[in-house]
Amino acid sequence: MSYLSWFDDQADRHKALMKKLLAQGLDQEEIIAYFDFENMVKMEPDFCPLYTEKNSDGTTGRKCHDMKQLNCYLCACPNFRFRDAGFEERDGKRVYSYCSIDSKEGRQGVYGDAIHQDCSGCTVPHHVSYIKKHYDEDWREVMKEVVQ
Ligand code: SF4
Repeated sequence: MSYLSWFDDQADRHKALMKKLLAQGLDQEEIIAYFDFENMVKMEPDFCPLYTEKNSDGTTGRKCHDMKQLNCYLCACPNFRFRDAGFEERDGKRVYSYCSIDSKEGRQGVYGDAIHQDCSGCTVPHHVSYIKKHYDEDWREVMKEVVQ
């Protein structure tokens, strides 16, 4: 799957869910609370493939990041930058994505002849405080800089 097809698919999922929640009259605070990982696993199992994965303790729903209160409203991250055709060559490898704020928790991963941003160690967009700061009902508006 290309970055862009994932991005468009996620935008559609987010839009459909927001339409439902807004129709129910939820306000911003309630919407962000709804996107809490535990609630999403229970209420929206089709929203993310990780929600239906089993954990070693028998529970269902695997977190993409090991944090106590994980919120899924801003999956992906507004600071992520990608270009499916790649940005540049670096040491004979093509760079397809990077972090615009160069988060110390992220890193550039090398996969064969490709370099991709690896966000597996970064929790920035999953904190409620960050989501409140960058909140917009329109996911594409928040993510407008991501596609280059
Ligand atoms: S490293 Fe962190 S801040 Fe940077 S794009 Fe990835 S999740 Fe976002």
